[in-house]
Amino acid sequence: MSADMGDLELAVVGAGPQALTLLTYLAEHGPRELLERTRVFDTSDWLTTWHHQFASYEIPMLRSAWVHHPHPDPYGLIRFGRQEGRDDEFFGRIGRPSTRLFADYCDKLLDGYGLRELRTSAQVTDLRPLPAGGVELTTTTGTWRARRAVLATNPIRPLVPSWLGGAWAKHGREPGAMHSKDWSADTKGQGPVVVVGGGLTAAQIVSAHALAGDPVTWLTRTLVRERDLDIEAVWLGPNLGKFHSVVDLKARVTMARKARGGGSIPNHEGSQLEDLIQTGRVAHLRGAVDGLQRTGEGWKLNVRHQGRTKPLPAANVVCATGSRAHVRYETLLRRCRTERPVRRVAGLPMLNRDLSWPDTSVHLMGPLALAQVGPSCRTVIGARIAAERVVESWGGAVNRQYPGPK
Ligand SMILES: Cc1cc2nc3c(=O)[nH]c(=O)nc-3n(C[C@H](O)[C@H](O)[C@H](O)COP(=O)(O)OP(=O)(O)OC[C@H]3O[C@@H](n4cnc5c(N)ncnc54)[C@H](O)[C@@H]3O)c2cc1C
Repeated sequence: MSADMGDLELAVVGAGPQALTLLTYLAEHGPRELLERTRVFDTSDWLTTWHHQFASYEIPMLRSAWVHHPHPDPYGLIRFGRQEGRDDEFFGRIGRPSTRLFADYCDKLLDGYGLRELRTSAQVTDLRPLPAGGVELTTTTGTWRARRAVLATNPIRPLVPSWLGGAWAKHGREPGAMHSKDWSADTKGQGPVVVVGGGLTAAQIVSAHALAGDPVTWLTRTLVRERDLDIEAVWLGPNLGKFHSVVDLKARVTMARKARGGGSIPNHEGSQLEDLIQTGRVAHLRGAVDGLQRTGEGWKLNVRHQGRTKPLPAANVVCATGSRAHVRYETLLRRCRTERPVRRVAGLPMLNRDLSWPDTSVHLMGPLALAQVGPSCRTVIGARIAAERVVESWGGAVNRQYPGPK
């Protein structure tokens, strides 16, 4: 039987950028006393997944702009850059911060607000909404009760197309046919590679292989779209207002999904790829995959291109087709789902305006909050929108920067 660890005002599950944004907003806007009885549960240190993502894809700068960071003051990061004499670490027309500068700024927030001390190294294994209000959390180191909880666990899974799933079913998860989530720099230097997908992750993997001297084929279904953010900028202002004026949550999910659309690539990475294509280091092919087969030397991808099927032999086939969120992927919501069932659209729960699961004090940040936060819900922008909403509902004096429900 696990030890009873006591009562909290707030339990946060996950120590990623969403959780950091929430707690920075709470520290700035209050109520401060809530922060004094908060614990953050994660077996990994703060932002471990974030740092791992940037390191494994060797990403030098964020996609998002200088105003998108965990502090409510949009000028916080640029001021920090100036104070540090690092103005030259903002890039391109939207001032994308360098990976290092953003990480250092997050460290400053974690230290400045004393947030590191709030983390308990434990996995939450069960979450039970209590009949009299509040929640009980079972963790690998003990049981806690909290007046409210926030899940910031990013429950997404790779979107695996049928041709890749089929190859795995037939040949097992053999090396060489992978989703981009499993790609690492070790894959470089192993021979010809085919990268499938029209988004930024595909672009980063294509460039990494090409710069390492591997023969690269980049396969996209349609023309590649150039865009700074993964949504149009109007989605941070006017469109977000329209989104919230739509009452039907199903219609909102459709709107938000359409806004995110397929993949897109920022100008900087787009130009880099164009250069690699022009100099013959990358072959760009538009077509659809017909099937993937194992061969003696590696893999053969059959691609439908201009009415014909073209075989593409490769040592590695990398499928950068994104990820999907579903309420079932978050096992901590099992009791909420069964004991307090709510309407779902495309696997997403229909939450209250303050992102709480109806009839509970469990709030969700990140991908499952799409219908309330909008198409940027997975990113730091979405974290800011969500933090405004949640902290305000707890009585925080928030200066809203993003349109939201009245
Ligand atoms: C390559 C890449 C680049 C990106 N670049 C940007 C960018 O430039 N700008 C931007 O805004 N967004 C970007 N994103 C999107 C997004 O901001 C990141 O994926 C971000 O890490 C998501 O933050 P999060 O807090 O939701 O989740 P995570 O960073 O995944 O953190 C979730 C945490 O929850 C913990 N956890 C899960 N379950 C439990 C449990 N049961 N108990 C305890 N702990 C648990 C995990 O250990 C993890 O540490 C990028 C994403 C990727 C993949």
